[in-house]
Amino acid sequence: MKTIHDLQEILSDLGLPDYRLRQIVKNVCQNLLDDYQDCTDLPKDLRDTLTERAPILSIKPIRTQISVRKDTYKTLFETMDGQKIESVLMRFQDGRNSLCISCQSGCQMGCRFCATGTMGLLKHLNYEEIFDQALYYAHLLKKEDAVLTNIVFMGMGEPFMNYDSVIEAANLLSDPDYLGLGARRITISTSGVVPGILKMADEPKQFNLALSLHAPDQETREKIMPIAKRWPITELMDAVETYLDKTRRRISYEYVMLKDVNDTEAQAHMLGELVKDHLCHINLIPYNPTGSQFSCTTKENIYRFRDILQEYGLKVTVRVTMGQDIDAACGQLAQKNT
Ligand code: SAH
Ligand code: SF4
Repeated sequence: MKTIHDLQEILSDLGLPDYRLRQIVKNVCQNLLDDYQDCTDLPKDLRDTLTERAPILSIKPIRTQISVRKDTYKTLFETMDGQKIESVLMRFQDGRNSLCISCQSGCQMGCRFCATGTMGLLKHLNYEEIFDQALYYAHLLKKEDAVLTNIVFMGMGEPFMNYDSVIEAANLLSDPDYLGLGARRITISTSGVVPGILKMADEPKQFNLALSLHAPDQETREKIMPIAKRWPITELMDAVETYLDKTRRRISYEYVMLKDVNDTEAQAHMLGELVKDHLCHINLIPYNPTGSQFSCTTKENIYRFRDILQEYGLKVTVRVTMGQDIDAACGQLAQKNT
């Protein structure tokens, strides 16, 4: 099946000129029309042909759930080859509408605290399937008189295990002819795939990098993230330093708070020592229950952990948990009820 991403082929089949392609992309990606019949600058017979031959999205929305507070939406999509993926929209009071997208169905990294990690890898998404999650939400938000402002690659999957498709999708998301989101509004989050970090340091566009560090020492990291055996923390931090030197951009460290695992005062000091010289921001993420053996650090201890990090002059925030009631919070994406 061809989609809007294969229009060039369809148009040349029909013997139509190239400008039609730009016209259609403009209608769909900039004017955010989600029905070819509304593209009134196209001849009627072309609208009909497109409707029949080139669905706008390469993924099919199956169901959208909205949290009780109406600040989080979660959509389950199916790919054309029958795999399930999820995207989560977070609507913040300051006007930001941030979409968390998936780059794989499932994930092979097996982090012990993550529901997606229990699924194993089912599919690497192609760039169209990644981009179209954002296109779907750009269309949906338009109907609510709102716009998509940020994209985070923090849904299902490890972006650097699907590097080329992720970067291709990110390039398209920031392409002014497509969604035109500024590169700095796009964040790619990795569990620590060293070759990906080094490659991203050389990308021409200034996408943000987030690193799911989750422990300051090798022993703890290995216990909760199998990837730490493949790329030990020393090698990982060397890659981060290369990235920081080359790009001069800020990195975000993600740190999930697991009671009695990675949340001691000693670990806060170790983390402070490890990253105090980096241009960085630390996000402490309260652990969201996924049926694993872990539980979340108490609120009091999360703030104590934060205070210690701040003594090192670090910028630290505690992430607000959103969408827990619809299993849309970090680490909870796992096609539970399909
Ligand atoms: N695979 C990428 C991005 C997706 S996960 C990565 O691991 O970075 C997005 C973030 O949620 C990561 O920082 C991840 O470690 C974190 N996370 C996973 N499971 C979680 C859970 N149960 N509670 C809170 N955060 C979790
Ligand atoms: Fe994969 Fe990220 Fe979950 Fe780890 S935390 S299993 S890398 S999705």
